[in-house]
Amino acid sequence: MKENPRKLYIAKPYIDDLICQDVISVLKSGNIVQGPKVKQLEEEFSKFSQVMYCAAVNSGTAALHSALFAIGIGPGDEVITTPFTFVATANSILMAGATPVFADVDEKTFNIDPKEIEKKITSKTKAIIPVHLFGQPAEMDKISDLAEHYNLKIVEDACQAHGAYYKNKRVGGLGDIAAFSLYATKNMMAGEGGLVTSNNEEYIERVKSFRHHGQSLNEGYNYISFGYNYRMTDINAVIGINQLKKLEEFNNIRNRNALLYNEALKEIKGIEIPFKGDNCSHVYHQYTIKIDSKKFGHSRADLVNELNRNDIFPGIFYPKSLHLFPTFKEFGYKENDFPVSESVSNLVLSLPVHPGISENDIQKVINVISRFSKQS
Ligand SMILES: *Cc1c(COP(=O)(O)O)cnc(C)c1O
Repeated sequence: MKENPRKLYIAKPYIDDLICQDVISVLKSGNIVQGPKVKQLEEEFSKFSQVMYCAAVNSGTAALHSALFAIGIGPGDEVITTPFTFVATANSILMAGATPVFADVDEKTFNIDPKEIEKKITSKTKAIIPVHLFGQPAEMDKISDLAEHYNLKIVEDACQAHGAYYKNKRVGGLGDIAAFSLYATKNMMAGEGGLVTSNNEEYIERVKSFRHHGQSLNEGYNYISFGYNYRMTDINAVIGINQLKKLEEFNNIRNRNALLYNEALKEIKGIEIPFKGDNCSHVYHQYTIKIDSKKFGHSRADLVNELNRNDIFPGIFYPKSLHLFPTFKEFGYKENDFPVSESVSNLVLSLPVHPGISENDIQKVINVISRFSKQS
């Protein structure tokens, strides 16, 4: 009998027996929401991320929204971010009632370009949300200089970069406040979930109130401000605690996989391997190459088809710059406003790099691409 072919997907959440046992223990404990496991996750994650305070919420989107609330963003304020990111980054600005202002990205790192940020600063600008896209920290020194000069707050979108370093400091404490996602496909996951980190205690207290309808932290049923239900369950938290124990190992395997890809793919004409800056680490949430279809000899779509035929399922992050969607077009954006973001969205292709991908798997992906590059 023929064996089922091994399918290589873009993500595969890691679940072991220990995690399953811990989830059952939480269910039997009766302490299911905003209980001891949530507190433990907050403590352990802040320690890991070298930051003083942490508040857990129920998604990365909620983490971004809560962070913007904590630093006082509201109607009339402008918040600068990248158009080349997951839509949640920009949606969180709308959720806060503020105006999203895009600044174009760097074609090598895919991260927001500090020179472009400066062009977009007005008297209404209150904050910048740099995204550490695909697991590589944004240029935080230059962004911090701008923030200081123009008196702006920095909200790191670290949803793809758990554990990444920028100049020997972990992401999560590089700005005023930061948001992480624990969605199933992230470097560290809890099913769904989010974490807000900061070295400012008052900000994290505001998040803890916001996640529970604005309730006072000392007195039940006393609402000191507006808020949402962004509470995390202990069921999710205990998965997160287990994942955090393995995060460093997960990120190391992602790096090994990326290096194996780099060595082989840099030899193939028409493929540009990911750039990594010298002053940071990269945790390869995605391993993202660029395809020059003229030099490669095939279009990106044809390469995707060829990979799919071989049970390999890459991803395109992101196929369209955010400013071209109706939600953001409303702010007057149009084609060619962000030429780099628009150009890279047509070139990028992310290959499976997660910890469930073995050296043999990588070799298989490389072989398929290499063989295809030689066909006409
Ligand atoms: C995943 C992600 C988010 C949103 O996180 P959710 O947990 O899905 O709400 C925000 N920003 C970026 C860059 C992300 O990758």
